[in-house]
Amino acid sequence: MMEKTLAEYREEKCRSITENLHRIQDEVAEAAIMSGRSPEEVRLMAVTKTVDAYFVNHALSEGVDLIGENYVQEILQKRPELNLEGKELQLIGHLQTNKVRQIITQVDAIQSVDSVKLAKEISKQAQKNNLTMKILLEVNIGEEDSKSGIPYDGAMDLAAEIASMEGLQIEGLMAIPPICETETEVRSYFARMNKLFIDIKGKKLDNVSMNTLSMGMSADYVPAILEGANLVRVGSSIFGARIYN
Ligand SMILES: *Cc1c(COP(=O)(O)O)cnc(C)c1O
Repeated sequence: MMEKTLAEYREEKCRSITENLHRIQDEVAEAAIMSGRSPEEVRLMAVTKTVDAYFVNHALSEGVDLIGENYVQEILQKRPELNLEGKELQLIGHLQTNKVRQIITQVDAIQSVDSVKLAKEISKQAQKNNLTMKILLEVNIGEEDSKSGIPYDGAMDLAAEIASMEGLQIEGLMAIPPICETETEVRSYFARMNKLFIDIKGKKLDNVSMNTLSMGMSADYVPAILEGANLVRVGSSIFGARIYN
C-alpha cells in the first residue's frame, strides 16, 4: 500500500469534518425544535483541543462560529494560526489561577470558572486590561471528586458573590455530568442543571445574565438540548478521536 500524501490526508479529513458538521448541525436543529425552540436558539461549539489549526480553520470556513479550547498553552500556540475574524474562542478547560494573566486577552469567554479564587483573579486581570470577561460557572453536577466545579447546592450563593466582582459578567452555567449507563440517567442531571439555571435567572442579580446553559458533548448533546441546553460542546464527533502526544 502506498502511503497517503499529506494533501490526500488533509483532503479526506476535511471532507469528513464537513460531513460530520452538517449531520450534527441538523441534529442540533432538530433537537432544538423538539424542545420547543428555534434552531438559532441553540449554539454549537466545536471543541478543538488537540486538533491541528489547519482543520480548525476548515471547520471555521464551514460556518462554525464558536470554538472551545481546554489548555492555555495550546491556545497561546494555536491562536495566531486561526482565522478567528467574526468568530469566538472560549476556554472550557480547568484554569489555574496563575495562568489567568496569560489568557485574559486571548479568549472571548471562560466557561470553566469553578472557584471564588479563580473568579477573583479573572476580575483583577480583566480590570488591569480594561475589559469585562464573560464567564460561566462550572457546576460539579455529579458531585464527583475527579471533576472540578462549584457544588450544586452552593451555586446560588457563589453566583451572588462572584457577580459582585468588577470586570466580569456571569453569562450562565456549564456542566459535565458523570458517565451514565442510560439516557434517562444523564437527562436527570441535565434537568437538574436546567432547574438551577432557571432559579438563578429568576433572582435577577446584578451582573448576571444567565443567557447560556452549556451542557452536552459528543455522546449526549441531543438529550442535553432536550433538557434545555442552549450551547453544546462537541469535539470528537466533528474532528474524530483525539490523539494526545
Ligand atoms: C473535550 C471536551 C468536550 C468535547 O468532548 P467530546 O466528547 O469530544 O465531544 C466538551 N466539553 C469539555 C469541557 C471538554 O473538555
